[in-house]
Amino acid sequence: MKVGIVGAGMVGSAAGYAIALRGTAAQLVFVDHRPELARAQAEDIAHAVPFASTTLVSAGDYTDLDSAAVVILAAGVAQKPAESRLDLLSRNAEVFRDVIGRVLTAAPEAILLVATNPVDIMTRIATELSGLPPARVIGSGTILDTARFRHLIGRHLGIAPQFVHAYVLGEHGDSEVLAWQSARAGGLSLPDCAAQMRVALTDGLRAEIDAGVRNAAYTIIEGKGATWYGIGAGLERIVRAIARNEQAILTVSVVAPEIAGQSGVALSVPRIVGARGVTGDLFPDLSGAEATALAASARLLSDTFAALAL
Ligand code: ADP
Repeated sequence: MKVGIVGAGMVGSAAGYAIALRGTAAQLVFVDHRPELARAQAEDIAHAVPFASTTLVSAGDYTDLDSAAVVILAAGVAQKPAESRLDLLSRNAEVFRDVIGRVLTAAPEAILLVATNPVDIMTRIATELSGLPPARVIGSGTILDTARFRHLIGRHLGIAPQFVHAYVLGEHGDSEVLAWQSARAGGLSLPDCAAQMRVALTDGLRAEIDAGVRNAAYTIIEGKGATWYGIGAGLERIVRAIARNEQAILTVSVVAPEIAGQSGVALSVPRIVGARGVTGDLFPDLSGAEATALAASARLLSDTFAALAL
């Protein structure tokens, strides 16, 4: 399978590195409007391949994306000092206007995997610009927030995160919702699992985990300017679910006809991901407060999109 990555910056290259190391794709092509950057990233990652896999890594132009099954959209512009979030969004919408037509001319059958932030709005924009069915325009959404949530619960309980099933829903951002009510570990509810593992699960601890998930990006940005490894691995996970037609359940963002009281917003809930993209949505049991918070998150995304002069 061929995977394209448009935008060879930190996030795009981290995704490419993860894909190359795991050998998730047979062929990986980087495209960037700075061709020298795409070439350098491709070469650097290609030199890691002999240690790990047989993925063929190269840099090219849009035409080199022909027959790609998945194209990751990680292109974007950095926020200028004093620039509003909406102005930044408009500029990123311009980037997608430039990119998406060219990607689809070269690879009309591709699934688009959106990584550019704010990812939920960019996913909605990509869906509109591409005219593709929403199942084929997938935003990375809260995949990373969900990973952080499982990591923190697992660490507290003393079990591996793979055996924790807990999801972060809604916006990838401040209004996201940690679905505690439906969280399970080792087939047990969290309180039952905590009791059997003889660890406390107090309200204070839940608040600490909540803050840990919600503030993770801010803390990392403070320390190193941006985040890329976590999301790079998350993007690889989505590509793997598509490449192997896994029907994996991942919290990704796609445009839904109606969700949490809004029509046409893209936000994350657990979704089934395979070779045809997203083929189903799952709705975890929510507490009253969680359902209210999810509705507020959906409203915020809807209002932000409406405020954008596209
Ligand atoms: P991030 O941390 O989100 O990866 P970066 O700034 O490191 O952010 O990466 C964004 C990448 O997107 C840059 O390499 C930039 O050159 C690229 N890019 C920006 N605009 C376009 C465009 N119109 N077409 C292709 N690539 C673009």
